[in-house]
Amino acid sequence: MQPFGYQRASEPQAAIEILAGDPGAVFIAGGTELLNWMKDGILSPRQLVDINRLPLAAIEAGPRELRIGALARMSDVAAHPAVRRGYRAISEALEASASPQLRNMASMGGNLLQRTRCPYFRAETALPCNKRSPGSGCAARHGENRGHALFGWSDACVAAHPSDVAVALAMLDATVLLRGPRGERTVPVGELYCLPGASPERDTVLEHGELIVQIAVPAAPGAERSRYLKVRERASYEFALVSAAAAVDLDRGAATIRGARVALGGVAPRPWRLPAAEERLRGAPLRSESLRDAVEAAFSEARPLRHNGFKIELAKRAAVRALALAAGESVP
Ligand code: SF4
Repeated sequence: MQPFGYQRASEPQAAIEILAGDPGAVFIAGGTELLNWMKDGILSPRQLVDINRLPLAAIEAGPRELRIGALARMSDVAAHPAVRRGYRAISEALEASASPQLRNMASMGGNLLQRTRCPYFRAETALPCNKRSPGSGCAARHGENRGHALFGWSDACVAAHPSDVAVALAMLDATVLLRGPRGERTVPVGELYCLPGASPERDTVLEHGELIVQIAVPAAPGAERSRYLKVRERASYEFALVSAAAAVDLDRGAATIRGARVALGGVAPRPWRLPAAEERLRGAPLRSESLRDAVEAAFSEARPLRHNGFKIELAKRAAVRALALAAGESVP
């Protein structure tokens, strides 16, 4: 690890100004990701700016939206009564993430800014990886790509994004409030992440010095019964092979679906909404075939790699199951 400086900021503007004046400085909150990058040689910052004392950890639930401060810890958000009651998928996604110790330490903003778990990207010795060393190639494109993307990849990078809660947030149309040297802006969670194209080294739209300040989640119909389903190779402390988040707004009297939202994780460089499925489900009868047909239609653009074709069926089933759970009753 390279030597680095450290300082602590007590106000957001002060933290932003330090980064604006130093291209080699980065923010550190819980540090559960950043310190891994530093130990693995993925990042060698000149200076860490500790933002843990910034007043950005509040969790506030109003009638129209839930506001989560970027420094709220994952475990506090997961256990918050308003989140459990009104936004179940968020709580479930957080509790399916990492380990209790990591959830106590990791911030919500940091969770969203995780980088891919691609083994070539995380390797201790340098391997061809355009995300880590632009222009070096992509060892996963024709190598080990079992855990990689089905949607949104390019020949330059086939990695999938690992955050669980980002999938639930994108499904619920959450936004992040960013503050930086040029002021504030709001970005939908799903658009926070860049598709790789020819420049996979860039993961998000964040500019240097921009800070995630807050996450806002609208109180969408069905959010209180929304669900998150994670499929992984062991029962805990494991990243998703595939995951699905869903919310369903039902007309119970008529047994029809007024509206549905569904997003997948572990299958793309960003949380992957299925708009074609959502469109088909609007006004559809609440039946298993409706859910299966809608999800099937959304997979016409899936492009499996050599070793991850099994994820197509897995992801379809996860999406159908998450929708059925979110409907909250046995689906005929
Ligand atoms: Fe690197 Fe992306 Fe290829 Fe993995 S998939 S080796 S992260 S370029």
